[in-house]
Formats: sequence, C-alpha cells, structure tokens
Amino acid sequence: MAGITPLPAMDDDQLLRYSRHILLPEIGIDGQEKLLGAHALLIGAGGLGAPASLYLAASGVGRITLCDHDAVDLTNLQRQIVHFTESIGRKKVDSARTTLARINPEISIEAIAERVAGLRLEQLVQSADVVVDATDNFATRHAVNRACVKFAKPLVSGAGVRFDGQIAVFDLRRRDSPCYHCLFPENGDVEEMRCAVMGVFAPLVGIIGSMQAAEALKLLMGIGRDLTGRLLLLDALTMEWRSVRLKKDPQCAVCGGGDSEQRQAPESCEVPGNG
Ligand SMILES: [Zn+2]
Repeated sequence: MAGITPLPAMDDDQLLRYSRHILLPEIGIDGQEKLLGAHALLIGAGGLGAPASLYLAASGVGRITLCDHDAVDLTNLQRQIVHFTESIGRKKVDSARTTLARINPEISIEAIAERVAGLRLEQLVQSADVVVDATDNFATRHAVNRACVKFAKPLVSGAGVRFDGQIAVFDLRRRDSPCYHCLFPENGDVEEMRCAVMGVFAPLVGIIGSMQAAEALKLLMGIGRDLTGRLLLLDALTMEWRSVRLKKDPQCAVCGGGDSEQRQAPESCEVPGNG
C-alpha cells in the first residue's frame, strides 16, 4: 500500500515467526513485509479491541496505536481477553500493551490513554494505514469516520451487544465507498445500546473483533475482497449471518456533496456497542 515504508529483509526468527503466513501464496514474503511496515490505529481496547489487537500484534503489524481512556474493571474480564485479573485498575491501553508485547516483542505499540478527539484524532488517523473502530459510542464513531473520510483512510467498523454483532468496511481511499455516516446518520433514528446495560455474549465480541483484524490485515496487504459496500449482521443465538448491501449516499453530509437531508437508517437497525 502506498505510504508503507519498506523495511529491511526479515531475519531468520521473523521468517519462522511468520512462516504460516508466508506459506500462503496470497501473502508470502511480500505481504508479510507490508504488515511489518504498516501502522494500524485501533480505537477502543475493550471487547472488540481485545481480539483485534491480539491478532494484529501476533500477525506482525509493525506499528499499532491503541487509544482508550478507560481502566480495566472486573466486569470486563468475561470477554476482554487482552486483559488479566491482575490488570484491574490499570489503564486498558497499558494492560493491552503489556500483553501484546509479550506475544510479539518485535513490534512497536503506542498506548494513548485518552478519549481521542479533534485535532489529535485527525493526526492519528492521518498517520495510520488502516483504522479499526472498536469503540462503544456514536460520538466517537462519527468523529473517527469524519477523520477517515477527510484523510481517505480505510475504516473497519464493528459492534456487538447481547447476541447481535455487525461488521462493515468503509474503504475511503475509494471514491465510491460509502462511509459510516451514509449508513447511520448522526442524530438519525438509531438506538444506542451499551453492554453495561444490555449484556453481551462473550464470544460474540471475539468473533466480530477477530473479523475486524482479518479485514484490517487484508486491507494492509491489498489481498482478497474486503467488506466494502457490505454490512454483515450476526445473530449469535442462531449463528445466522445476514449481508446487507451498502451504497454511498450522494447527499451524505460527511462524504457526499454537502447539504444533506437526513437519511434514515435501515429499518429496525439497532447499533450495538463494543462490549
Ligand atoms: Zn457518507
């Protein structure tokens, strides 16, 4: 991908560490080197961010920036598998960085214990090759989306609450890609649901967060076909998936021409949090 810095050739340990990737013809040495030279911005170190960060780090994404202002508490441990019982009270980003560094000490992990917004968020997005949204609130989701549109960055968006999960990719390097706001207009008629109130099935966020990592890795390597233009919805009680086609809204206030009439979200669409 343009903007990814070429790295020196992998040493013997790296060739072993990543050998099961390198064996895949779709990845090979080239793909693995792209990952090692890439920068992923992961916003949220909770239910979705935990598995996403574990796979991004283990897979050898060379630079990972984690943002989360929260601290680990006992209720997180049922599903936020990057944190341990002894991490209770620590900032989630510090706890996650410790775990990720134990899994892969070769990569660089930046921990930002802030609710990032404004210029700070824009600078982080601008410096990233892919952005993974693993947050739990609309305000941040929309701010992240706006920054990704502004700097034409691919955005991997996920959500999960109760037994309901969803994932979508907005590859905003492409002019025809919809953005998050095309799907869920700000102040639109969608219901924000939080795990703290509604509950969440532990492996649900594991499934969605792992898929976010998979999509981010594919985008970084430029392989396969990503989820751009599709929203996948999972009902983990029946383990049934639905795929909804997404279209760019030409009137979208964020990515479209400008003056937008607000579009309604798809019927009965509820937006889960991040677990
Ligand atoms: Zn849009």
